[in-house]
Amino acid sequence: MGAPQGPPDRARLLASLRDYVEQLREEGMAGLPMTAAPRPALPPSRVTPAAETPQVPESTVKAAPPPTSTGELALLYPGLERCSDLTGLREFIGDCRRCKLAPRRTNLVFGVGDPQAELMFVGEAPGADEDARGEPFVGRAGQLLTDIIERGMGMTRAQVYICNVIKCRPPDNRNPEPDEVAACEPFLFRQIDLVQPKVIVGLGTFAVQALLKVKTPISKLRGTWQSFRGVRMMPTFHPAYLLRNPADKRLVWNDIQEVLKELGRAIPRRDPRR
Ligand code: URA
Repeated sequence: MGAPQGPPDRARLLASLRDYVEQLREEGMAGLPMTAAPRPALPPSRVTPAAETPQVPESTVKAAPPPTSTGELALLYPGLERCSDLTGLREFIGDCRRCKLAPRRTNLVFGVGDPQAELMFVGEAPGADEDARGEPFVGRAGQLLTDIIERGMGMTRAQVYICNVIKCRPPDNRNPEPDEVAACEPFLFRQIDLVQPKVIVGLGTFAVQALLKVKTPISKLRGTWQSFRGVRMMPTFHPAYLLRNPADKRLVWNDIQEVLKELGRAIPRRDPRR
């Protein structure tokens, strides 16, 4: 006799639906709620209960066009351009309340690694594991990124710098919203300016589209050199996407080999697909 058939587990259903939507997004499907387009009103029964809605005064949310130069950084957050190292920048950010993600985060996830790394990985936003630990890419996707760095590139996590576009976890792992990106990305820009990596690897649709301000699908952008704040940037698939689509690891391996060549590093013989 098989296992008793209970009602479908809501959390599992939601998780698979989220995976599916992320997969469509990663494959470049347009029209998912990641743009500033107005969303249709939900029927009353589906409106988020007030208790779950983060309450942040509108005035604390800075929705501004993305700053692109040091001068513009200063306009949005006066003093940011004077942060002269990562420790100072972390202190500047402080117990950040600048956007509506603050009330529900456990830890702000700033970034880890060598402050003078030649290689920087930029992901989307912390997930549950990262929120709990305060460190980027420490969950399942993070383990795969670590494998790419260690087994694929022959480097260590401590030799590179790892961070995200958004420093706080969006509730229920939803996509970051435009006002959240606008409020947070000046900190990423300052991180990049301070670390001054030779190469940035942009991980996944969201991070790459948010940085380059384009809507081109990651499937088209990956493997093509871009420039971001004067730094060579290689877009590639997000490790979470690779967990669901392991066959595409070979494409990421191609991108990673390009990065190694650009850095003048030897390509390790071991293939991370194994
Ligand atoms: N996914 C991301 O984009 N960033 C993390 O830190 C973890 C998962």
